[in-house]
Amino acid sequence: MENRKSKEHLTASSSNIHNQTLKIFDTVIIGAGINGCTSAYFLSQANQNVILIDQEGIAAGGSGAAGAFISPKFTKGGRLKELLEEAYLFSLDFYTKNFPEQIQIAKLLQIANSDENEARLNAFKETTTLDYSTDTSEVKSILTPYAKASASLVLEKGGVVDAQVMCQALAEGIELSRAKVDELSFKDGLWQVGDIKAKRVILATGSYDIVVKMPYLELRRVWGHRIDVKTSTKVPYSIHHHLSISPSSAEGTLAIGATHNLHFNPFGDEVYDLEAGHKELLEKAAKSVNLEDVEVLKDYVGLRSGSNDYLPIVGKVVDAEKTMDEDFKVSKIKQIDDECFSYFPELYMINGTGGYGFVLAPLLAKQLSEHILGQGALDSDLTPTRFFRRWAKRQG
Ligand SMILES: Cc1cc2nc3c(=O)[nH]c(=O)nc-3n(C[C@H](O)[C@H](O)[C@H](O)COP(=O)(O)OP(=O)(O)OC[C@H]3O[C@@H](n4cnc5c(N)ncnc54)[C@H](O)[C@@H]3O)c2cc1C
Repeated sequence: MENRKSKEHLTASSSNIHNQTLKIFDTVIIGAGINGCTSAYFLSQANQNVILIDQEGIAAGGSGAAGAFISPKFTKGGRLKELLEEAYLFSLDFYTKNFPEQIQIAKLLQIANSDENEARLNAFKETTTLDYSTDTSEVKSILTPYAKASASLVLEKGGVVDAQVMCQALAEGIELSRAKVDELSFKDGLWQVGDIKAKRVILATGSYDIVVKMPYLELRRVWGHRIDVKTSTKVPYSIHHHLSISPSSAEGTLAIGATHNLHFNPFGDEVYDLEAGHKELLEKAAKSVNLEDVEVLKDYVGLRSGSNDYLPIVGKVVDAEKTMDEDFKVSKIKQIDDECFSYFPELYMINGTGGYGFVLAPLLAKQLSEHILGQGALDSDLTPTRFFRRWAKRQG
């Protein structure tokens, strides 16, 4: 996404969706970022009839801006760390087997960037199931004295995905409609989105407004900027320190990213300052590596969409109004099973992947598609229902 505001005029309304009246799809997926495209991929691999709808096209949102580095989370423990460790292994394997052209594999060097970060890295070393070493000899010559003196570890494999090309490859052969969806309606057992009819809908709308009523869900939007640069310095590993630096391509280019800006809102009037972004990115990169003859080639900016508990969101969408309307006792919510809430019929979402969308999407989309096809339950820690429970308690 280069600049959302300047592209607004390109978006169509839902009435402009091209004529698909004759065909009934199994699934319509709204949003063609990495979450929508991987969901489309797994469902179509299972012979489902899928259509993607996006207001701007493939990888137009946060996904088009991503690095997209494939790494685990270097911290001491907890649900997110465990999930990311599993997703890191799964996604490396998935991308390498199915899309080898779109992923660059190299060793991954993680360097602690503070005392607190060092404590987390040490705890990671004690608890991780991944093989690691502390041998930095292959990369030492380009590291700064500060980076060399900091605690670090090396994983045998890190990945960097070509974000836009990967999303396009995942969506290859899948119908795509370019339109903005403003509303959904459900009639006679089918969802209707413009002229498109489908048995189910998956919302994969990233940081944009969700098109159904979910008063219980608030997303955390974090603006980010990354750059591609040309440099005469050869970087052999993915290096993660104050930010991430990719290994050099054969042409001598590499990706540097990304910034985390909690305040910038691309939907408002403020204009993003690209020069200030370059300065921040290059200063942070210079803390780790002495990059020579640097020329900035391309900017990428976009929003990450995260949840308040930092875990991703995958599963069926609770209809809050209907659930609360019924003979619903908020005081007894702890004893009520998830299945007892009212859900929008065959309406699912996949979102909240924060800064790890390319790591998480293959695993989550596979689990979602298996769940939809009746082949497995979803992890209740990750479903949207957890936010409904918390919100409903506050209403009571
Ligand atoms: C600068 C930056 C760097 C990042 N680096 C990494 C990284 O190194 N590794 C990693 O794993 N992740 C990284 N991420 C995070 C990753 O990009 C996100 O987690 C991921 O892109 C989320 O994908 P998504 O499909 O949920 O959302 P998006 O990519 O934002 O896609 C949502 C899509 O929905 C469409 N849409 C929304 N509403 C509507 C509507 N009403 N009608 C029609 N279309 C609609 C939008 O046009 C958009 O294309 C980074 C993100 C940023 C911004």
